[in-house]
Amino acid sequence: MKKLEHIGIAVRNLEESEALFARLLGTSSYKRETVESEGVITSFFAIGDVKIELLAATNAESPIAKFIEKKGEGLHHLAFEVDGIQERLNRLQSDGFDLIHQQPKSGADNKNIAFLHPKSTGSVLTELCEEKKA
Ligand code: ZN
Repeated sequence: MKKLEHIGIAVRNLEESEALFARLLGTSSYKRETVESEGVITSFFAIGDVKIELLAATNAESPIAKFIEKKGEGLHHLAFEVDGIQERLNRLQSDGFDLIHQQPKSGADNKNIAFLHPKSTGSVLTELCEEKKA
């Protein structure tokens, strides 16, 4: 993994959480982006070299809605930047990690993303991401 790219936080109400994190972090969200395929709207903060990604559900079937139902709001995932996301997924799978996505899919922030199942990663939902190439 190249670096910790962002930390995902599941929230119920995006406006309220944006205001809370703006006060906490001393900086405002710099963009919002909806990922319809995942049923989420995201909001990004930049803290040094790492981003904080707030995730709110856009519908009841969203993985974020289900997560909040089960666990409440809070830390959702860690996202690591990689080069060659497909090869990295293949390697992690042959190394015994369970993949949620066998192939990367289009995510927020101009990235291809894929998640590893938390049951194989010490209960830490883990995302790999790679900048989309133009
Ligand atoms: Zn993420």
